[in-house]
Amino acid sequence: MPKLMKRADIPAFLTAIAAGNPDPKTELHYQTAFQLLVAVVLSAQTTDVAVNKVTPALFTAAPDAAAMAALGAEGIGPFIKSIGLWSAKAKNVAALAQLLLERHGGEVPGEREALEALPGVGRKTANVVLNEVFGQPTMAVDTHIFRLGNRTGIAPGATPRAVEDQLLKRIPKEMLKPAHLWLILHGRYVCKARAPECWRCPGATWCTYPEKTPVPAETKPRRTKG
Ligand code: SF4
Repeated sequence: MPKLMKRADIPAFLTAIAAGNPDPKTELHYQTAFQLLVAVVLSAQTTDVAVNKVTPALFTAAPDAAAMAALGAEGIGPFIKSIGLWSAKAKNVAALAQLLLERHGGEVPGEREALEALPGVGRKTANVVLNEVFGQPTMAVDTHIFRLGNRTGIAPGATPRAVEDQLLKRIPKEMLKPAHLWLILHGRYVCKARAPECWRCPGATWCTYPEKTPVPAETKPRRTKG
């Protein structure tokens, strides 16, 4: 278990990795709450980039729950065949659109229980929607946040739920909503899975990772003779 980051250091670490982006936005493309929900369901074990390639055509064909339910799993499938688990995801998206119509008039509910009752929607997806659409200070622990929670010492935990609980407890309330995306973006672009780029990390001063990556040889300035 890594050394715990000091609680007093957490605001400075988060401010540093926020990199002047106080109000970060998800990298998934969407126009409505329904489209965000569908995009997040499609993004399980797939990159946002891959999802963004398929959603424009899908959302043109079926922009809302009624149209998506009418399209059905067989109609959705051909739009999303390039992403992982597309067949199961097509079924879930058709079924969740149908349930939204039956239970919520086609609107996306703002309550965790109602969201998690939808097919293909687990705690992580519900947390993303509650955070992004409803402005709730939730923490959706994906692979990046789970890694950062443990590696940086900000919120160590053996399971995603343990990391989530630690983050909710340790991050100051006023930073919780944007912290979700600050951590994801930092994990995606700097604190990468295989080789964290510690030498250019603005949060290195406060991070407790003991094996910080040094500057790679090819990026070091060359010595000139004479
Ligand atoms: S110093 Fe390294 S391990 Fe720590 S947050 Fe930055 S990139 Fe990640």
